[in-house]
Amino acid sequence: MSRINEVIARVKETYGKTEPEFVQAVTEVLESIKPIENKHPEFIRANIYERMVEPDRVIIFKVTWEDDQGNLRVNKGYRVEFNGAIGPYKGGLRFRRSVNLGIIKFLGFEQIFKNALTGLPMGGGKGGSDFDPHKKTNNEVMRFCYAFMSELYRHIGPYTDVPAGDIGVGAREIGYLYGAYKKLRNEHTGAITGKAYEYGGSLIRLEATGYGLLYFTEEMLSHRGESVEGKVAAVSGSGNVALYAIEKANELGAKVVFASDSSGTIYDEEGIAGEKFKFLKDLKEVKRGRIKEYAEKFNVPYFEGKSVWDVIADEGIKVDIALPSATQNEIHKRHAEALVKLGVIAVAEGANMPSTPEAIEIYRDAGILYGPAKAANAGGVAVSGLEMSQDAMLLQWTREEVDERLRKIMKHIYREAVEAAEAYGYPGDLMVGANIAGFLKVAKAMVALGLF
Ligand code: NDP
Repeated sequence: MSRINEVIARVKETYGKTEPEFVQAVTEVLESIKPIENKHPEFIRANIYERMVEPDRVIIFKVTWEDDQGNLRVNKGYRVEFNGAIGPYKGGLRFRRSVNLGIIKFLGFEQIFKNALTGLPMGGGKGGSDFDPHKKTNNEVMRFCYAFMSELYRHIGPYTDVPAGDIGVGAREIGYLYGAYKKLRNEHTGAITGKAYEYGGSLIRLEATGYGLLYFTEEMLSHRGESVEGKVAAVSGSGNVALYAIEKANELGAKVVFASDSSGTIYDEEGIAGEKFKFLKDLKEVKRGRIKEYAEKFNVPYFEGKSVWDVIADEGIKVDIALPSATQNEIHKRHAEALVKLGVIAVAEGANMPSTPEAIEIYRDAGILYGPAKAANAGGVAVSGLEMSQDAMLLQWTREEVDERLRKIMKHIYREAVEAAEAYGYPGDLMVGANIAGFLKVAKAMVALGLF
């Protein structure tokens, strides 16, 4: 049996029942890098494949906080420092009821290769909590963040491990988390990214994942003689990634007709643009309302309990570009079949692992453009890397400067993926290319570092 197959089998046997998302991510990456196995005997000698799937460190802690009624509540906190071979651990924090170790490990594992692809010196990590900020008051969120950081602060730092946001951790949460970190450490450093500009953040960080997703999509399309302009797009979610994906898609001349939250989906045939987009942004970023209110305000169809992909499949609505930007495993086989049948040109992933393996197989068999998450959504962590650089220099670049660097990084990622795919016999396959390019960089560093 090949070494890679042995490692996949061992991970399935050990975590198949308890950590399915982690097994899914490991299987996807390792299956797709098989073309490198015979060409790099040094990775087998150094047992890289097995070492790569084992986190450097897993930290699990108790978070006790007080709600507004004076009750003491308890949640679990996690930080998985997965691989620090090429730089400080780097990856977001997710606050959501469904968070568990397997989800954090899958996200941390993906993050290793995504970060490597950016060309910046960042290792991979991820963290979070099963705390859900929905329906909590501001004060409760603040008290939770301070309690969470009262444990996490001893494990992180600008050259050790640098968290950022993810689902449930936006500008407000980052502010409280960084406030707690500053208070506990009495220092002002780039130990967290996604900070607001006023207290050491980078311009464009807020927008970076969504903007980067569109820069990547534009790059994919342009190599087929197409462009985003004039295309009809579906975005799922209405959080950080989704909102700025919609904003940039509008700017590039596309029409975005779908958005969603975990309660349902809206379909606006005219496009979520101009005043309508402003309303949505305010609804989600400021008022923290539900997407249903958009449908009520503008009198457009709302589908309670359905995802964007359910609506596309059930109603037979054609889009040219699909940008899943909500959560993992949101596009299943039947959704992918419907997208392809209805004539989608490209799927680019804003969320992490939003397509199931069966869905990915359908995209690839159909020959549509497919931008895998670790390449297509790397813009967020890339600008986080730029935020770390600015913090280290005690400088803040202009919007134009950061945006220009983001564009260059997304082009660089695309090129790396294309070249690796070509070099290993899978021309045009961005999933294989992105996995191989990211893996090679980290594996080479691990070999060079010896027992690290
Ligand atoms: P947010 O919390 O800002 O937004 C998430 C959005 O997706 C919300 O609209 C939320 O709805 C919806 N959503 C979340 N979970 C589910 C679910 N299980 N079913 C249906 N809808 C759901 O998170 P982000 O925008 O930051 O993250 C979205 C995705 O992008 C995640 O996969 C994340 O890992 C990935 N990502 C984020 C980056 C970043 O910089 N923020 C960087 C790279 C990837 P509701 O409000 O109802 O919960």
